[in-house]
Amino acid sequence: MEVVTNLRKGKPQVPLRSGAYRQDLSVLVRFRPVHKTTTIGMETDVLAENRGLARQNLDLLRSHKVRSIDVMGSIGSGKTALIVRMARDLMAKGKKVAAIAGDVTGEDDYTIFKNAGIPAVNLNTGKECHLDAHLVQHALEGMDLGSFDVLFIENVGNLVCPADFPLGTDLRIVVISVTEGDDMVNKHPMIFLDSDVAVLNKIDLIKVLDVDVDRLKRDYARLRKNGVLHLTSAKTGEGVPDLLAALGLA
Ligand code: MG
Repeated sequence: MEVVTNLRKGKPQVPLRSGAYRQDLSVLVRFRPVHKTTTIGMETDVLAENRGLARQNLDLLRSHKVRSIDVMGSIGSGKTALIVRMARDLMAKGKKVAAIAGDVTGEDDYTIFKNAGIPAVNLNTGKECHLDAHLVQHALEGMDLGSFDVLFIENVGNLVCPADFPLGTDLRIVVISVTEGDDMVNKHPMIFLDSDVAVLNKIDLIKVLDVDVDRLKRDYARLRKNGVLHLTSAKTGEGVPDLLAALGLA
């Protein structure tokens, strides 16, 4: 947002870690939607601004009776596969499902959604490690909100940054998998604290991995006062009905 504003003033000023300023913003502009901009003063709390936009997104989605889920999680945890599995189960029950695919670059997840028959919008952040409410607002502008009941927003794979940027969804879930080790909850407490539902995916691989699932359950229960870590396999479908129930989608 700031980038666009500065460009229009002809004074691109994006501080780099070195303290220098990035002069060529063509890469950023190429990936970011620029059809509407928001000006944020330097003193404005960016996170507060995001929360305000998120509230607008939530109000908009709820006004169309769309139940929305922000799917956060680590790279390779199976977010896309889990969304496809949930969407297929829901569509089999007559629900209409759509998705937003959030990635740094590319159309890989977007293509998977489309091939699964899920209407989808691709959202590339260009370089950011998370989606934000502003980007989602643009994506919603291009969607027919009256044509679906459930919206899954797949966030950029990351267990740190997305936690600070709610998108304006009814629920936020975080997905990890057994392949990442049994210390994921302990290492990334904030995203588990900032989400409503936690999922341990790929449980079909438990038998071939040396992973302490009980530790993951214990760590989550300690963080979230007896919170239940939902065990799923997007591949076999095991645990998915219980997860959908936890999301209020059963
Ligand atoms: Mg994915």
